[in-house]
Parts: sequence; C-alpha cells; structure tokens
Amino acid sequence: MPLQLALNSPACPPPPVGEGLGVGAKKTKTMTNTNKGDILIVDDILPNLELLITLLTEHGYKVRPAINGHVALRAARKAPPSLILLDINMPDMDGYEVCRRLKSDERTSNIPIIFISGLGETLNKVQAFQVGGIDYITKPFQLPEVLARIETHLTLRNLQIELEQKNAQLQQEISERKQITIKVRQLNEELESRVLQRTAQLQTINQNLHKEIAERKHIQEQLTHMMYHDDLTGLPNRALLMRKLDEALAQTKIQPNNKFAVLFLDCDRFRLINNSLGHVIGKQVLVLLAERLESCLVSTTMLTRFEGDKFVILQVNVRSINLAQALAKKINNQLTKPFEINSHEIFINMSIGIVLGTSDYKQTEHILRDADTAMHMAKENKESDYQIFDESMHAKVVDLLQLVTDMRRALERHEFVVYYQPIVSLTTGKIIALEALTRWQHPKRGMLQPGMFIHEAEKTNIIVSIDQWVLHEACRQLQEWQKHSSINPSLKMSVNLSAKHFLQPDLINKIDHILHDTQISGANLKIEITEMTLMDCSKWVTERLYKLRERQIQLSIDDFGTGYSSLSYLHRLPVDILKIDYSFICRIGTDENNLEIVEAIITLAHSLGMQVVAEGVETDYQATKLKNLHCEYGQGFLFAEPLPKEAIEEMIIANYS
Ligand code: C2E
Ligand code: CA
Ligand code: CA
Repeated sequence: MPLQLALNSPACPPPPVGEGLGVGAKKTKTMTNTNKGDILIVDDILPNLELLITLLTEHGYKVRPAINGHVALRAARKAPPSLILLDINMPDMDGYEVCRRLKSDERTSNIPIIFISGLGETLNKVQAFQVGGIDYITKPFQLPEVLARIETHLTLRNLQIELEQKNAQLQQEISERKQITIKVRQLNEELESRVLQRTAQLQTINQNLHKEIAERKHIQEQLTHMMYHDDLTGLPNRALLMRKLDEALAQTKIQPNNKFAVLFLDCDRFRLINNSLGHVIGKQVLVLLAERLESCLVSTTMLTRFEGDKFVILQVNVRSINLAQALAKKINNQLTKPFEINSHEIFINMSIGIVLGTSDYKQTEHILRDADTAMHMAKENKESDYQIFDESMHAKVVDLLQLVTDMRRALERHEFVVYYQPIVSLTTGKIIALEALTRWQHPKRGMLQPGMFIHEAEKTNIIVSIDQWVLHEACRQLQEWQKHSSINPSLKMSVNLSAKHFLQPDLINKIDHILHDTQISGANLKIEITEMTLMDCSKWVTERLYKLRERQIQLSIDDFGTGYSSLSYLHRLPVDILKIDYSFICRIGTDENNLEIVEAIITLAHSLGMQVVAEGVETDYQATKLKNLHCEYGQGFLFAEPLPKEAIEEMIIANYS
C-alpha cells in the first residue's frame, strides 16, 4: 500500500521511486492519458501528500511522493522530475536544506522547486528564494492556485528547457560553423599553398619554355645564318644576294631615282693558285681576299661570295654609276699589294663588271647576267680591270651565242680549213717545220681567224673535235707533201692541242689512230701545248708526255713566258722545244731589258737540252738578234704569214731547192 509505505520512518527504506507512484499513478491512468509533467511531492504529512497526489493525478500529472528530504534527494537524483513541491517543515531535514542540496547537485540543480508552507508556519520567503526556490504555496491549498502555479512553472521550465535546447542547438550550430569556418580556412590555406606551389611549377615550366624558345630561336637564327652565309668567308651568299637584289629592284620600282649598283668580281687565273699551291692555300687566299674586299666597303654596301672565286657587291640608294666606279678603282688599288701566305707572295687580279640597277629591269637574274657579261668583257679587255655594262655587250654575248651554235655545225659542213705557217732555221733560212693554224670559212661572216672563235670553242668543248680534225688534216697534208719529190721529206708538222684536248683519256689512242691512218711517223709530228695546259693537267701530264716521246713525237711549249711555269719545273718533263711568246719578240729593238730576258730564256732552255723557237719574228733586226743569241728557229711574218696549203706548198718547194 503506497500510503503505508509513505508512513515509513526514515529508518525504513523508501519505496522505489517508480513503484512508489501507488494509487495516484493508477488513478491518473483512469483519469487522463496525457502526462503534463512528472512531479515529486515532498511532505512528511500524509494527508497533504494524498491530497496533492489526487489533485495532480486528476489533472494529468505523473506524481511521485517522498515523505522526507532524503527520499526526495534520492528520487530526484535517480530520475529528475519536471518539478518538485517541497514542504518546508520536515523533521530530519527541512525544505530549505533539501532545496539547497538539490541546487548544489548539477543533476538536480535545474529542477524548479515550489515550497509548501503549512498554516501558521512562518515562511522565510527570502531564504526560500535564496536557496533556489521559485515559488511557494501556503496551506490550506487553494487548489486552482496550486495548479496554476504548477502549470506556470512547468510551462516556464519547459520554455527554459526549450530555450536551453535551442541555445544548445545554437551553440552546436555556432561550433559547427566555427568548425566549418576553420575547415574553410584550412581548405583556403591548402588551396593557396597549392596555388603557390602550382604557380612556382608553372613559373619553372614557363622559364624552361622561354629557355627552349630562346634556344630554338638561336638554332633558327644559326640555320638562317647558315642558309644565307658562306662557310669559308662568313660573307652573305648567293641566296641572300638574290633576296637583297629582289628588294632593291622592288624599291627602285617605287622610287625610280633610288637606284642600285651591282659589281661582279672574278679572280683572274685563280685556278693557277689551286693547281700550283694547293686548295688549302687557295682557300686561305679567298678568306684574305674577302677581308680585303670588305675593307673597301661602306656600311650600306653588301659583299657576297657568289661562288668559287666570284664575289658580288651590291650598293643600294645610289643615283649614278660613279660610286661603283670609284669602288672598283679602290678595290683594284687594294689588290696591288700581294697576299702573304706561308712565305708565298700571291698577287690577285680581279675583273669587275658593273651594272646600274634601274626600274627598267624586270628580273634580278637579268641584272646578274649583265654584270657577269660586263665582268667577262673586263677580263678580255686587258687595259681596264672593270667594265660598265652597256647594251652593246649584251648584243655581243648574243652574237657569241650564235657563233657557238654555228660552230657546232661548222665541222659537219667542212667549214674549217687549215693554214700553215713555216718555222724557219735562223742559221740556214730553211723551213724545218710548218705550224698548222685553223681558220673558219663562215658562210656569212667570211674567213674567221682563230682569235674570233678558238676561245669560245675551248669554253664549250668543241675545241676537242676541231683539234682532232686539224691534227688529222695536217697529218694527211704532210703525207701528201712527203710523196712530193720537191719537198723536204724531213719536213715536220706542228699542231696545237688545247688543254681540254690534252685531258681526253683516249688522246694517245686517237693520235695513234691518226698516225696509222695517214702513215705519218711520230718523228715528223710536233705537238704544241701551252704552259697553262701543263699547269692544269699536272697529274696526267708526265705520263702523257712520255707516251708521246715513246712515239718520237716532239713536244713544244707554246707561248712561253705568258704563264707561271718555271724552267726548273719544265726540266722534269720531256720537253723538246720552247716557243718564246710573241710579246717578248716584238719588243726586241725597242726595249733592251727585254732582250736580256729573251737571252736568259734561251740560255736556260739550252742548258735543259731544249731548242728554241722565237714566235712573231717580224723584222730582220729581230731575226739577227735572235740568231746572235743562238735561238735556233724563228716563226713570223718576216718569213711568212699562215697561208693556205696551195700557197705554202709553193713556198716549201721553193725553199727546198
Ligand atoms: P699560236 O699557237 O701562238 O699561233 C701563232 C699565232 O701567231 C698565229 O695566230 C699566227 O698567225 C700569229 N703570228 C705568227 N707570226 C706572227 C707575227 O710575226 N706577228 C704577229 N702579230 N702574229 C704572228 P692565229 O693563226 O690567229 O692563231 C691564234 C692562236 O689560235 C694560236 O696561237 C693558237 O693558240 C690558236 N690556234 C690556232 N689554230 C688552232 C688549232 O687548230 N687548235 C688549237 N687548239 N688552237 C689553235
Ligand atoms: Ca702554236
Ligand atoms: Ca704561240
């Protein structure tokens, strides 16, 4: 029975809080199903307890009774109620003490406590509030007041709890937000550090890229430089020249007064340097030559190595040809000093062709073509080292081209003829040999002298066929004359062979064939080659010359004195005759120094076992002087000009008898 239990003294243990609900709890169930709150009623007076239990249970509260302070404290700690109604006057522990203890325990400190004071008991309100009570009810109970107070405080309590919960929720939210903020900050920092890291990486990549771009640019520049410059001299090359010429031509088309000049330079006989001193020295000469040419230029002028020993200078923004002329003179002047390489003193002469580039030109190739033409004219004109292009030169070139075309057909059409010039013994006046000299009976131009076509024939290789024909024809003619009883049977035939012909691999075979065909003995044949041929074919020369000697064919060195060969060089070769060039002989009588040179040549030739022919003897005085110098033979207009076979035949018959 709950009421009995409630009567237990403090010595008797109070019933378990849950179970101690007793009748009140059962009643509550029958009265109402809603639980408005869990109320602990602490009172040592059972009727009070019962009354309150009944009242509150009826009004939907769950009620627990406690008959003293100790029971109340245990019950409250075990399951904190929503509210406590606490009697002040209790024997063991008064309500204030119970309240103080409840408030000092954090498990129970928030439970609202309403004090109950009995009738006539003095309620110390101040103390009640000081120890933590929130309200008080005085007995006898005014039931509506009790309910109202309980309800109010429970509502307050609930509101408070709600507030606390909201507060806690808010706190939670705040802390979550704080966490989020911290996390965001962390992420930001992380991001920032990553960005920094990535930026650093990108910077490195960027730097590397820049480096690579710079390297590639450098390589590109090197390639471009290589493409437009010459390896040996470092000068701009032909490709760059063509570009600059295009630009200059385009410019002059916009501003016709803004002309340009092109100087085409070619070394004279550069081949000789390569052949005599070797290609290494040849290259060194070209480098030094390039430097010397550059030293003559101003900054607006471009010097290019066109090819081999050919250079081209481009002068832009000129009004006339005068500047180019002055430059050509300056260059020629600079070249009067020799180049010194490995104790060799080398003189270089350059032929220069000049063209004024105007808006009349359609193509840059034509400018170079004309400059080249002018250069060739300069080469042929021994009086001046430079030539300015004019239209007549172009006509001359066209003319030459026609000549070469005609020459190709001339052999088939039998237009070549052989003239013969006697070679005479200066002591006896007897004709010992004839030199075969070709002429061309041109259908339109008449009889052409070799000077008109031999040079072109040599350039185009036609000379090989001409030489061969002349050799055959001269041998055939000699054979005919040999059959003639009034002609000296020991008469010899001297035939000119060009360097190109001498280089032919089947030369000896062809000579053998001709000798066999014409039944001429090699002993009656003399071959004339120039010094230049010897220099050009130095590799082959000795072998060929010995093959000629095996056939008793005599060898004459033609035009001696015009080339560079030294007599000591000739000494090593099987040479029989030296023909002193016309340029030395014609000066005998006017220049006594010259006579000394002629004398020196004759003496040296004799000491090397050679005989001497003086070419171009025109006067008796010359013939006498030469005879006095023990020159064996003479050839020249004094004795006879080159004559057709009929005329020479008469002459040799007359001379023999
Ligand atoms: P070359 O071999 O030195 O021939 C001598 C040249 O001197 C000839 O000229 C001749 O007419 C000329 N001459 C002779 N005596 C005198 C003189 O007293 N005074 C002057 N002023 N000149 C004289 P040509 O016949 O006009 O021949 C010129 C050159 O053409 C020759 O010079 C020779 O190098 C070349 N030539 C001629 N025929 C042939 C040939 O069939 N084959 C080759 N490869 N060259 C040839
Ligand atoms: Ca000759
Ligand atoms: Ca000659």
